[in-house]
Amino acid sequence: MGPIWTERPPPCTDQAGEDERPFEVAGQPEQPVQQMGWDELERAVAGCTACGLCKGRTRTVFGVGNHASEWMVIGEAPGAEEDLRGEPFVGQAGRLLDSILAAAGLGRSAGGRSAVYIANVVKCRPPGNRNPEPEEAARCEPYLARQIELLRPRVILLMGRVAAQALLGTDASIASLRGHAHRIDVAGGSVPVVVTYHPAYLLRNLADKAKVWADMCLARQVFDTTSPRH
Ligand code: SF4
Repeated sequence: MGPIWTERPPPCTDQAGEDERPFEVAGQPEQPVQQMGWDELERAVAGCTACGLCKGRTRTVFGVGNHASEWMVIGEAPGAEEDLRGEPFVGQAGRLLDSILAAAGLGRSAGGRSAVYIANVVKCRPPGNRNPEPEEAARCEPYLARQIELLRPRVILLMGRVAAQALLGTDASIASLRGHAHRIDVAGGSVPVVVTYHPAYLLRNLADKAKVWADMCLARQVFDTTSPRH
């Protein structure tokens, strides 16, 4: 997966199509996303109007965690609580994710080999908590691609169908994507990826907890057999 950012997106308008907001990226708007550092990237996301999701957001949800993390978790999109707080996975599903990570000795506030960086496919909340449209995910893709490039994690855990299909470029089911490691291309190499269910799904299907734990164990195995900053 390589970031592509060749044109300035159209301006964002509000729900009624009035009060057009100019496209703004604080800092250096002409700088390609694939050359940005963490701070520039976060500022670019905060000012982004590249897709219609900018219209309904309270704030962008960039990502959370230590920038030296060797683990990365990717979900699909901010929900209501995430939109208010500007942090991914902070609602009920987020608390479940934290429990799963803690059981594996990991955490979003942890350091060293326990540190996890968490982000979503899209950085703005879709209305009514619907899934992001492919066009919205494509517009937001350069930001996530750059986050992955900057982080260069040893393993990525993709949570849910939207993240798995977007990152792996497939329409295959979660069930068929689980159970083995995939790889995604990152500039100058590739990163191993493990697919599992989204915590929001798990809240409705607790019987699948064992499957998620098996996926965590697979991710741990991949982590332990992958060189740091490969
Ligand atoms: Fe920009 Fe991504 Fe938000 Fe769309 S979802 S406005 S591409 S930051």
